[in-house]
Amino acid sequence: MLDWLIIGGGIHGTYLSLYLTRRRNISPDRIQVLDPYPQPLALWHHFTANTGMSYLRSSHAHNLHFDPFSLITFTRTRAGQPLANFIEPYGRPSLALFNAHSQLLIERYKLDTVREIGRAQGLQRLTNGWRVETDSGSLEAKNVILAFGNTERPYWPSWAREAQTSGANIHHLFDPTYNRTVPDGETLVIGGGITAAQVATTLSLQSPGEVTLLMRHEPRLHQFDADLGWITHQYLDNYHQETDYTRRREMIRAARHRGSMPNDIARELDQAVQHGLLNLRIDEGIHVRLADNKQSKSMTLELASGENLKADHIILATGFETSRPGGVWLDTAVSQHALPTAPDSFPIVDQRLCWSPGLFVSGSLAELEVGPVARNFVGVKLAAERIGDSL
Ligand SMILES: Cc1cc2nc3c(=O)[nH]c(=O)nc-3n(C[C@H](O)[C@H](O)[C@H](O)COP(=O)(O)OP(=O)(O)OC[C@H]3O[C@@H](n4cnc5c(N)ncnc54)[C@H](O)[C@@H]3O)c2cc1C
Repeated sequence: MLDWLIIGGGIHGTYLSLYLTRRRNISPDRIQVLDPYPQPLALWHHFTANTGMSYLRSSHAHNLHFDPFSLITFTRTRAGQPLANFIEPYGRPSLALFNAHSQLLIERYKLDTVREIGRAQGLQRLTNGWRVETDSGSLEAKNVILAFGNTERPYWPSWAREAQTSGANIHHLFDPTYNRTVPDGETLVIGGGITAAQVATTLSLQSPGEVTLLMRHEPRLHQFDADLGWITHQYLDNYHQETDYTRRREMIRAARHRGSMPNDIARELDQAVQHGLLNLRIDEGIHVRLADNKQSKSMTLELASGENLKADHIILATGFETSRPGGVWLDTAVSQHALPTAPDSFPIVDQRLCWSPGLFVSGSLAELEVGPVARNFVGVKLAAERIGDSL
């Protein structure tokens, strides 16, 4: 029986494996990370490549090491120095730098050797821990951390899902099986936040004048997707004093700047528009009409305003589902083991993020305790400290 099994080996799960082994001295042979992808951070690499982003939204301090200065220290080494590339404010690292530093940590601390390839499909309580059923057998551990979010569940507006079912050339940027390529013909990007702006700007440089970004609202400018006060006592004290979980959910909703982007991204977007590379429309898609000629890829998107937009290819940048992650197997575990949930169905956990003896959460599953930044990089740092306190 393992001491720790972490379910999900993306940003959160990989960080937790580093934290537990290097900060809390758990022996690497007592811990495993279960994830369907052989390499750590697979979805992170896929989504960021699809987006075409150059810099992270968060500061260099929110890197994959528990030492906030680790990434800066890396830029002073022979390997890291040529990659030293940041954007202000907050010293946000380039994606290439962040990824190289993460890869260095994975190799240095052999984080790929604690991985088990597979997908959790069930959870059984044992007298001294948990049995996790996977698609390739079962694993037993005294402690289990649920460290996955909704990153395998991209959000599809209903009109887009309907169009896709009818055979329209429409993809979600966060579909794990979709590899964005240079567009062929008129491309329509749908979405109102940083990712939509980044992918539309990237595509407009590759196919000038052939890309339209459709946003439901004017760009909403926020440096981060939740203010920095949510990492400190400034807002968290008040949040933790609130004992009504419905009110806590409302506080999270109000705090998270969904569909927002920082100034630099808005500026690049504006420049692409001003130079005639990109068309920007503020409106909302409601229905796709396919061409009568079945050979043609062309389609028409009907807009809420009554106008139409023509496209050969639609790319959704509409984020992820917001309901409780996990799906059916976790729903079953919740009812089978009477795991406590709030009215929004998210876990009610204690201060150590413990949902039931030996069962812990990170990421959006920990949101009602960690707060609005729970799913971000800094969220797993806050989560790891709390889970580590149970040792
Ligand atoms: C393009 C983009 C840019 C972002 N930039 C930033 C940023 O700059 N700063 C920031 O703080 N945040 C950022 N985020 C938000 C967030 O920090 C990232 O999405 C981060 O990857 C979330 O980490 P995660 O571990 O929850 O998800 P992931 O990295 O996607 O990992 C989850 C893993 O769990 C696995 N999994 C799911 N279900 C199971 C199961 N049943 N069994 C086993 N494994 C399972 C998945 O396959 C996946 O490998 C960004 C997000 C995106 C999409």
